[in-house]
Amino acid sequence: MKYSIDTHTHSIVSGHAYNTIDEMTREAADKGVSHFALTEHAPKMPGSCNELYFYNLKVLKHEKYGVNRLFGAELNIMDFNGRVDLPEHILRHLDIVIASLHSPCIIAGTREQNTNALIEAIKNPYINIIGHPDDSRYPVDFEPIVLAAKQYHTLLELNNTSLKPTGPRVNAKVNDIEMLELCKKHNVCISLASDAHIAESICDFELVEGLLEELDFPERLVANADYELLESYLNYKK
Ligand SMILES: [Zn+2]
Ligand SMILES: [Zn+2]
Repeated sequence: MKYSIDTHTHSIVSGHAYNTIDEMTREAADKGVSHFALTEHAPKMPGSCNELYFYNLKVLKHEKYGVNRLFGAELNIMDFNGRVDLPEHILRHLDIVIASLHSPCIIAGTREQNTNALIEAIKNPYINIIGHPDDSRYPVDFEPIVLAAKQYHTLLELNNTSLKPTGPRVNAKVNDIEMLELCKKHNVCISLASDAHIAESICDFELVEGLLEELDFPERLVANADYELLESYLNYKK
């Protein structure tokens, strides 16, 4: 396994994922994963858990079966001003926070509106990663997003599930290539996400690794290559 850190997975509490946290952790241990983040869908995603779930994450141990777990959320961006669906008093206690555009929660706007939604999320002091900004159902201008990510020390995600032929997003590869070329040009870090909804997909980076190789993308800009580098992004805004 080239990258043993996964910044984006879901357990059964997300409502459309299929393993418990314990099952995910055992699978991660079996695979030799060093760190993985449980980033459950925030409450506006139909069928996901409520605010109290995130508030109470403190009862869980970070280390189990030799694997380090980060407990966080994948927030839903609810409008073009970047409003999200967990309050600050909860976000402040999470280890890692992703924010994404999801079709049950926001109808796509114009390119300018979608771009603004992501830039406002990037500016949010509690958001560490912009999830799958690779979906032509939400067209965006990548250059201002990449520059904002640099300015506000926020990671842009390269999502393995987006690149699967059965993946839920449209035109992801073309959009990812545009984003990655700009990240290379402006020296902006990305994070690799399996976006696993089943345990065996944790750290499944086959398609994203292939794309990084194709583009000769520098490893120094991949936060998953080094936990200290990833941590610098997670701690920066705290
Ligand atoms: Zn998502
Ligand atoms: Zn997800």
